[in-house]
Amino acid sequence: MTAYWTTNAESLIVERLGGAAVRLEGGGRPNRMADTLSRKKRSWLMGRVRASNTLPERLVERFLRRHGIRFRRHDRRLPGTPDIIILERQIVIFVNGCFWHGHTRCNLSRLPSTRRTFWAEKIQTNKRRDRRVRRALQRMGWKVVTVWGCRVRNTADLSRVLSRFLTVRESRRPH
Ligand SMILES: [Zn+2]
Repeated sequence: MTAYWTTNAESLIVERLGGAAVRLEGGGRPNRMADTLSRKKRSWLMGRVRASNTLPERLVERFLRRHGIRFRRHDRRLPGTPDIIILERQIVIFVNGCFWHGHTRCNLSRLPSTRRTFWAEKIQTNKRRDRRVRRALQRMGWKVVTVWGCRVRNTADLSRVLSRFLTVRESRRPH
């Protein structure tokens, strides 16, 4: 069995947690991880990766703070536990890893060459859940913004993506 990790940030987390047992290959594409972990440890790691703040997520948060936009994180009271909730603007932001959430026409979401059916079904399930969650939130009056991992490699990218949804003033603070 092989696990794939979509972003370097996720890889780093796994690397840190798995220590020497996990060997990772670099690059921006899905990484192949040698299957040296027990099933139990793997599922624990998967949980950690989901729960941890990814690099794109941290970039989004930094962007919002810099522009003085107040937000909450991972609010379990809302469908799908959105990554970021901007209450005063009724906006929720999902920062999606391209692989797990099946980003369309994205290199990072390319399926592994082995166990394709397994991964395809898994990703389809995730996509269906994402759609369900999005509709539920919209019915509740939230504006739902999806930020894809591949689009936010740096702060400049992020400004471009988020300024389409958020009116921001330039901050007077240097950072
Ligand atoms: Zn992508």
